[in-house]
Amino acid sequence: APILYWMRRDLRLTDNPALCWAVDQGRPVIPVFILDEVVETWGAAPKWRLGLGLGSIGESLAAVGSTLILRRGKALDVLRELVDETGAETVVWNRLYVEDERLRDTSVKEHLRDAGLEAKSFQAHVLFEPWTVVTGTGGYYKVYTPFWKSVRDRDVGPALTAPSSVAAPDAWPGSDALDDWDLSQAMRRGAEVVADHVHVGEQAAQSRLGAFIAHRIADYDSARDMLAEDGTSGLSENLTYGEISARSCWHAGRRAMEDGKAGAETFLKELVWRDFAHHLAYHTPHLIRENWKSDWDAFPWKGDNDLAEAWRRGRTGIDVVDAAMRELYVTGRMHNRARMLVASYLTKHLMTHWKVGADWFADTLVDWDPASNAMGWQWAAGSGPDASPFFRIFNPDTQAAKFDPDAAYRKRWKRDRSFYAAIPRSWDMAPDDRPVLHPIVDLAEGRQRALDAYGQRNAE
Ligand code: FAD
Repeated sequence: APILYWMRRDLRLTDNPALCWAVDQGRPVIPVFILDEVVETWGAAPKWRLGLGLGSIGESLAAVGSTLILRRGKALDVLRELVDETGAETVVWNRLYVEDERLRDTSVKEHLRDAGLEAKSFQAHVLFEPWTVVTGTGGYYKVYTPFWKSVRDRDVGPALTAPSSVAAPDAWPGSDALDDWDLSQAMRRGAEVVADHVHVGEQAAQSRLGAFIAHRIADYDSARDMLAEDGTSGLSENLTYGEISARSCWHAGRRAMEDGKAGAETFLKELVWRDFAHHLAYHTPHLIRENWKSDWDAFPWKGDNDLAEAWRRGRTGIDVVDAAMRELYVTGRMHNRARMLVASYLTKHLMTHWKVGADWFADTLVDWDPASNAMGWQWAAGSGPDASPFFRIFNPDTQAAKFDPDAAYRKRWKRDRSFYAAIPRSWDMAPDDRPVLHPIVDLAEGRQRALDAYGQRNAE
């Protein structure tokens, strides 16, 4: 009987434990991606980027004699239908850790097993599964550095080789056409503009990793914070869809470290930040939706408002913030230092709830990762685990002077015309519009207002 391989955030052939296990059984394998109740909730850019990823892995599977089946519906219902149609007795997948995905998967596994089927899941998405990293007292980690220390010397096992062929069933079940899913539907912005900036698929991911290790990792420590430099790996987009495994990146980083490349350890640490985000999302699922520290619930953050809209549109009058918001809109990505800056600005100078910002990122990032995004926002807002203290308010101008000393980043995004091709018509902005010359909020006043609110909170 064939094996159903339920594909999710693991759009790769190399180092894919569920797929490799299925192939090793010597039985036909039917790979399926389901546009299900969880994926339906994703934002516009993540869905659009998913469509590109599915196109790419579909081609890779075809090259090894297989076919990616696409179905839409509730995951369990679709899997049951496919079991009925194909006579499959086994369903396999790679595990995920964020609550909506995990609850779905647990329920699917139970129901399939109750129906007498074999349901098996594998570790693939993170380096260290959340329940395998425990503190001395048996709990989970709330602080990054001890988490890092407890995992840095662990053996992550070898990366698995991609199968050279995947046995096909006698007949393929029916599949939706990817185009019919219309995954770009919600992209109000010009998708063709963003398309110039994405690197889709397994091969693109592997060559990115190779180029990063060969040319950039040695200077990563100093270059990674410079806004105008291409000093980082750019792999987050591929990691979130599983177009490359964290383990492949880990091994490449370890080898670079052994070769004496200076920035290699920092790169490994960043990969472990990604694991830490999933660790937290697993052990404290409310990280994704609510203040991680509930004593922030009473803080007078505003909900969505006009100033937040100006922030989204890159019209705050603070050059570095506006540059970063435009980078996001044009490329679907934003430099990490800039993410910290714009998040601090929104939650402090504009006193707007981090969820407003996190939602915008979830709608516009091509590397959106529910755990890293929520952790990053709560870190910046002060409400998260191991967060930056609220009273440490980034001054965007000082940050810009330090990390964009010759203003190359600010100038680039100020001049970049593709922003105007990307924005929706409803924004009613044109290249010859008068630039926002005066900050919508004076930096000193905004800072003081945030500090006053913080002082009052602590006094209560
Ligand atoms: P590199 O510097 O090359 O790092 C290598 C990998 O390590 C990254 O690809 C990423 O997977 C991981 N990593 C690096 N920094 C972090 C971090 N701070 N937290 C978690 N993982 C990290 N990252 C996302 O992948 N998706 C998000 O939705 C996301 N939202 C963020 C929101 C805010 C407010 C902040 C402050 C950070 C957010 N990050 C997010 C983390 C970080 O900004 C990006 O991972 C990074 O910019 C990606 O660029 P890179 O691949 O070149 O990273």
